[in-house]
Amino acid sequence: MSNVLAIAIDAPLRRLFDYRAPTQVDPDALRPGVRLWVPFGRRRVVGVLVETRDHSELPDSKLKAAHALIDDEPVFDPLLLDLLKWSADYYRHPPGEVIAAALPAPLRAGAALHETSERWTLSAAARTGQLPSLPARANRLLEVADFLRARDGADAAELGGISNRWRDHVRELEKRGWVTRLRVNDPPPPRAEVRTAQGLDPTPEQRHAIDAIVGAHGGFAPFLLHGVTGSGKTEVYLRAIEAVVARGEQALVLVPEIALTPQLVARFAARFDAPLAVLHSSLADQERLRAWRAARSGTAPVVIGTRSAIFAPLSRPGLIVVDEEHDSSYKQQEGFRYSARDLALVRAQRLGVPVVLGSATPSLESLERVRSGKATLLELPNRTAGASQPALHLIDLRKHAETQGIATPTVLAVKRHLDAGGQVLLYLNRRGYAPSLFCPSCGWVAPCPRCDARLTVHQREHRLHCHHCGTEQRVPEHCPNCSEVVKPVGQGTERMEETLARLFPDVPLERIDRDAVRRRGALEEALDRVTRGEVRLLVGTQMLTKGHHFPDVSLVVVLNADQGLFGTDFRASERLAQTIVQVAGRAGRAERPGEVLIQTEYPEHPLLAQLVAGGYDAFASAALEERRQARWPPFARVAVLRAEAARRETPLEFLERAREIAESLATSGVEVLGPAAAPMERRAGHYRAQLLLHAATHSPLQRLFSRWLPAIEELPEARKVRWSLDVDPLELF
Ligand SMILES: [Zn+2]
Ligand SMILES: [Zn+2]
Repeated sequence: MSNVLAIAIDAPLRRLFDYRAPTQVDPDALRPGVRLWVPFGRRRVVGVLVETRDHSELPDSKLKAAHALIDDEPVFDPLLLDLLKWSADYYRHPPGEVIAAALPAPLRAGAALHETSERWTLSAAARTGQLPSLPARANRLLEVADFLRARDGADAAELGGISNRWRDHVRELEKRGWVTRLRVNDPPPPRAEVRTAQGLDPTPEQRHAIDAIVGAHGGFAPFLLHGVTGSGKTEVYLRAIEAVVARGEQALVLVPEIALTPQLVARFAARFDAPLAVLHSSLADQERLRAWRAARSGTAPVVIGTRSAIFAPLSRPGLIVVDEEHDSSYKQQEGFRYSARDLALVRAQRLGVPVVLGSATPSLESLERVRSGKATLLELPNRTAGASQPALHLIDLRKHAETQGIATPTVLAVKRHLDAGGQVLLYLNRRGYAPSLFCPSCGWVAPCPRCDARLTVHQREHRLHCHHCGTEQRVPEHCPNCSEVVKPVGQGTERMEETLARLFPDVPLERIDRDAVRRRGALEEALDRVTRGEVRLLVGTQMLTKGHHFPDVSLVVVLNADQGLFGTDFRASERLAQTIVQVAGRAGRAERPGEVLIQTEYPEHPLLAQLVAGGYDAFASAALEERRQARWPPFARVAVLRAEAARRETPLEFLERAREIAESLATSGVEVLGPAAAPMERRAGHYRAQLLLHAATHSPLQRLFSRWLPAIEELPEARKVRWSLDVDPLELF
């Protein structure tokens, strides 16, 4: 039996599905990457042909035929299809789900690959004289019929040349059976003429970086662009992309979160007088499909997108850029748990193009890649336009009086900067009013009924929220234990806004967090008010740290640095250092010199001491050395098998069985650790636990997975839990 089609179907199974070719389809049309309608259970679903095989393991009688071919050309080019296969294999994820992640929803549902336009042709019956002739007085109808007889169909634009009322005539002809409507593919669009606006003259450091990237064109070359905040990394991307576009090639630019980076997209749009294909998850299906087609056809020379844009089709790829490469949003944390940053390197290598990872606070993985000679470091150590790096100072919360989380020296500094005409940004990574509701009389703290966590007080709504599972409750007036009056304890952004309004009553204030800018467009409006200078005090969460350019902010306050200092995760300190340096980088971006205050109860903590004394570089060298000694990534590879269930014992039993199987397979070089319960064991009513797999390199893990996962899938215990494998996890829980 030849020509068995191995087809990927969007289903949670780690395999392809075998089908016979549909009847009456030219075997040459069955190229890898085309979509087909196939029977799947009782449904008719879209599948993607991955490869053809000589024989199937299924008996002939069980092998069903695919219903029909959808595409006359592959949806994915061979390199992209290959990347998807590689990703499914590396992350051990069902290939159908991986391929589905790379397709806009309408294409997953069978929509046409190309934009279709209407065309009309004279019907076969009319051509062969089988219809009664048209009345001689209907000269307009005759004219249209003759027009169509003379050519192989015509589209709206061509028919519009006959008469303004051509649609009426065509409709009339259709009614009489003279005309048939066709739907055909658009002709390939003309190549965009790209004009670019002039940017600022590059500094010598920028020039060096641009030349290195541009000079590497035509081959794989990984770069780490390590530029301090405000050093003009974007200008380097723009110049390198200009060169790519001038050669008629495309650049793929990944950004962490489009909603948080409207300024970046606007800057690209202003620079390139050509259609940008923007791909992100909040687009409507048709918008996304349009952008995807523009990337695939090459009409968009620049493709900007978030994580999943790493799978965007490109007709003439020339460069890949990953902005803020350290950002955790590049790693998908559920389902297909891939890292778009890591895949950017894989894809660039396969395409043979340069790839630029840019950050002010590079991931330790990227720094180690440079150190071991696998990537070229391009440094922008200085800010552009004469701005200087802000100085960092620690405020010891144990030594100073405080008002609701703001120490006296901080209050004085805020006042000083406001008086001097600067803007002040206060960062607090806790939304809501207070992180807990407490009874001073008996010690009761409002718990989430479904998680091992406390409920956050949201004062304005007068409700308690769980930030882990979404549970909501009314705020009780009295303690359910002892009936005494309860009170909110600790600081959230909502309370900080209240405190600041009391301390600085006449100063316009803006709060930016997920609650405050929930409405679509609200974030952009708030950021505009900041940029125009209408707002002088700005308080917010992580949202404020992402690449925004606030020219007048002269003071940044990190209100509580201590939340991440004692995290259990091996990446906790890296994340904290990145956040502090990124938020500090919002200070003093233009002429005003910047100042940064970090409030802490642990000013002697090594992480803070390193950041103050030597900046991010000092922290990173020390952190890399720690990772090396502890054999954590990037000096080792880890994977995590997670499980959860409604009973506490169930996930542990499943993981225990999984561990036994792993040990029986005796894969040399893989250490199996655990199972262990998650630090927050219960979340949304489920108990969670995990098994950690540790190896010096990835290949022993891959060898283990090949035999281990099929065995785990067969375990009776596997049916009682929700389990997942996370390769290169960002967080251990
Ligand atoms: Zn009480
Ligand atoms: Zn909860």
